[in-house]
Amino acid sequence: MAKILAIGAHPDDIEFGCAPILIKEILKGNQVKILVLSLGEAGSSGTPEGRRQESLEAAKIIGAEIEFLEMGGDCHLEHTPENSIKMAGHIRQYKPNIILAPDTNENQHPDHSVAGKITRDGARLARYGGLAEIKKLPAHKIDSLYFYVITQFFGSSPDVVIDVTPVYQQWQKAMNAHASQMKSKKYLEMITSWSKALGSAIGTDYALGLKTNEPIRLDNISDLNLSSRNY
Ligand SMILES: [Zn+2]
Repeated sequence: MAKILAIGAHPDDIEFGCAPILIKEILKGNQVKILVLSLGEAGSSGTPEGRRQESLEAAKIIGAEIEFLEMGGDCHLEHTPENSIKMAGHIRQYKPNIILAPDTNENQHPDHSVAGKITRDGARLARYGGLAEIKKLPAHKIDSLYFYVITQFFGSSPDVVIDVTPVYQQWQKAMNAHASQMKSKKYLEMITSWSKALGSAIGTDYALGLKTNEPIRLDNISDLNLSSRNY
C-alpha cells in the first residue's frame, strides 16, 4: 500500500487541482492525506470556519483524511527555511511514498507556487538526519514528487496524464462541496473544460496532468502499457 500526501495552499486547491487522481488511488487501496496550509481567509467569498467545513466535507467525498497546518495565513505563505523544515517534520510524521504539491510556476496566486517550493524543499530536508529542529523524528525519503496545476494549465504541457473518467462524478461532487467558491461557476467550467481537452488528447473523456520533479525511472520502456497516441 502506498501512502500519498497531497498539499494545498487553500481549502479548495486539492479539489480543483488533483482530487480525481487521489480518488483513483484510494479506490486502488492506497492511503491519502490532504494537508491544507491556510483557511483561505483572504478570499472574496466564504469565512475561514465555513471554508474549513467545506474542506472537511470534500475530503469525506474523496475518502481522504485531512489536516490543516498553520503556515502564516492566506496570502502570507513564505518560502523560508523555517516553513520548509516545518513541512519536513510533517513529512517525517506521515511518511508518504508519494507527494503531490501545487506547481511552482510564479504567475499565479503566490501561495500556490510558495506551497510547491516549501513542499519540494521539505521533502528534501526530511532526508537530512542531522537537522536540529526535527531531529527527534526519524529521517524519511519519499519515492516521488509530482506537481499539480490549479489555474495555470493553458499552454503548459504535463509530464504524465491520468485518465479520470471513472471518477468524474465524484470529482464534481468534491469540487461542489466548496459552495462558497461556486459563486463564479466559470472556475469549475474552466477546469472541467481543460480536463475534457486533455482527455481528448489521450483518447478518454476526462484526464488530468501532473509535472514530475525528477525524471521517471523505468526498468523497460515496455513497462508503460498505456498509449496516449490518440491520432
Ligand atoms: Zn488556491
